[in-house]
Amino acid sequence: MNDAPAHDLLIVGGGLVGASLAIALAGRGLRIGLVEAHPPGDPGQPAYDDRAIALAHGSCRIFEGMGVWADMVASAEPICEIHVSERGRFGFTHLSAKEEGVPALGHVATAREIGRALLGALREAEGVDWIAPAQVVAVRADVDRACITVEQDGKRSDLEAALLVAADGGRSFVREALGLPVVQRDYGQSAVVTNVTPERPHRNVAFERFTEEGPIALLPMTGGRCAVVWTVPDARVESVLALDDAAFLAAFQERFGYRLGRFLRVGRRDAYPLQLLRVREAVRGRVALIGNAAHTLHPIAGQGFNLGLRDVAALAELVLEAQARGEDIGGDAVLAGYEAWRLDEQRKMAQATDGLARLFANPLPPLRLARNLGMLALDLFAPARHALARTAMGLGGRLPRLARGLPLR
Ligand SMILES: Cc1cc2nc3c(=O)[nH]c(=O)nc-3n(C[C@H](O)[C@H](O)[C@H](O)COP(=O)(O)OP(=O)(O)OC[C@H]3O[C@@H](n4cnc5c(N)ncnc54)[C@H](O)[C@@H]3O)c2cc1C
Repeated sequence: MNDAPAHDLLIVGGGLVGASLAIALAGRGLRIGLVEAHPPGDPGQPAYDDRAIALAHGSCRIFEGMGVWADMVASAEPICEIHVSERGRFGFTHLSAKEEGVPALGHVATAREIGRALLGALREAEGVDWIAPAQVVAVRADVDRACITVEQDGKRSDLEAALLVAADGGRSFVREALGLPVVQRDYGQSAVVTNVTPERPHRNVAFERFTEEGPIALLPMTGGRCAVVWTVPDARVESVLALDDAAFLAAFQERFGYRLGRFLRVGRRDAYPLQLLRVREAVRGRVALIGNAAHTLHPIAGQGFNLGLRDVAALAELVLEAQARGEDIGGDAVLAGYEAWRLDEQRKMAQATDGLARLFANPLPPLRLARNLGMLALDLFAPARHALARTAMGLGGRLPRLARGLPLR
């Protein structure tokens, strides 16, 4: 006879998404194992680096329901308006929190600050067993159990649970080991990320500006700074990173323009290669994929983590419902329910961000005119603008309880 497994649920990956799931499910009588390659609190953990994350209004609500928002909000800056335009063109669209009847469309915080709050909550969390630093090196999904082999301090051991959740990021080992089919596109572009201090106050406006080289986002941050996400063709990334501060500011100013006056200071620069990836199946056997393991998006609309957090809220809801009914938390009802709920939204969001990235990259004059007229029409037509704002706020589609401001159960 086998010994009873030590965990009900195993989460592979303790990045923003995996850590969020562990917190959502903690303290509810489930024994959770969180397997992460980096030691907890490691300042060099790339999942918790200094990139700015625009958290949609719906994500802030999810964090509020999980009890972690109060610890995040002090280091987050509200987004009250979003201004979308194309460099050198007349069209623009403008979304506002006031028009949507909310205090903010979202908030901007660094992955480091979000991670700090999540790790703080995890330290207090009941029933969460950190297995870190540890690397998952093999996966098997049997009919009645999911099994992983974990390498820790040079030793290998097997762990099993009723449900295995892959939150192990864009290059997910679990996804690849199970051979899940994906749709993939390499954009041949990287996002150069930094922060700048503008001459004029940002007044909590986020700017999305399309240029012939790729989109630029400027997000309001604390301390009067703005986060920069500048899409650059791969061939130019090294030369952009090599610019000194003054040359970088001049080059960025030329791309962005003078809506916020001159840019005075710039922080450290980093680059992230961009790709699109989405799974065609979000579950296999007793395994569910969430976050970047299921979908890695172009950061054009700042939706990747927001989408992942809705995966978390939906899966947590289904797991707790099954647990309350005394059912198998890794059984068909939970997994098929999760896939039916999330796969379609993942596909639509991946297609929307991909379409946007490619539409604006097309220099054909008729297309340029059409998209500028489209943006103007959108700005003039309130119902369409409202629908776009709901999507940007993470309030489109079937919403999990947490995103509706309701407790999990
Ligand atoms: C430039 C840029 C800007 C962005 N801006 C936004 C934004 O404004 N809004 C937004 O919503 N999203 C944004 N995103 C997307 C967002 O950063 C990601 O969607 C999110 O961080 C993904 O988190 P994750 O936990 O799914 O994956 P990851 O952060 O990749 O975490 C995966 C974790 O799994 C661990 N792991 C991997 N393999 C193993 C293994 N075999 N064993 C054990 N552990 C393992 C890793 O160590 C890591 O900690 C942006 C992305 C970029 C690149």
